[in-house]
Amino acid sequence: MQEYNGQDVRNIMEDIVYEKLDSIIDSLGCCTCDKCKADIAAYVLNHVTPRYVASEKGELFSKVQELNQNSNTEILRKIVSASEIIKERPRHDQ
Ligand SMILES: [Zn+2]
Repeated sequence: MQEYNGQDVRNIMEDIVYEKLDSIIDSLGCCTCDKCKADIAAYVLNHVTPRYVASEKGELFSKVQELNQNSNTEILRKIVSASEIIKERPRHDQ
C-alpha cells in the first residue's frame, strides 16, 4: 500500500485478484503452494488495468467498487491462463 500526504492510495485490483484466486485455486489443477499462488497473482496483476482508490489513512476501503461482469470474466480468464503458464514452469521442483 502506498501512502501519499497522509492518504492511502491503493490498487483494489490486488484485493479482488487475491480473493478470486483463493476461491478458484483448487479447480485450476496447478500447484497451490504459496509461491505459485503469488506468481499467478503477479502475472494477473501485470495484465489487468489497475484501479486505484484513495482514502483517509486507516479508513476502511470499501470493496463496493463492484466490478462489472466483463471485468470479472476478464480476471477469471487471466487467472486461468496464468495458472497454465505457472504449471509449466513452477519456480520449484515438481
Ligand atoms: Zn508451487
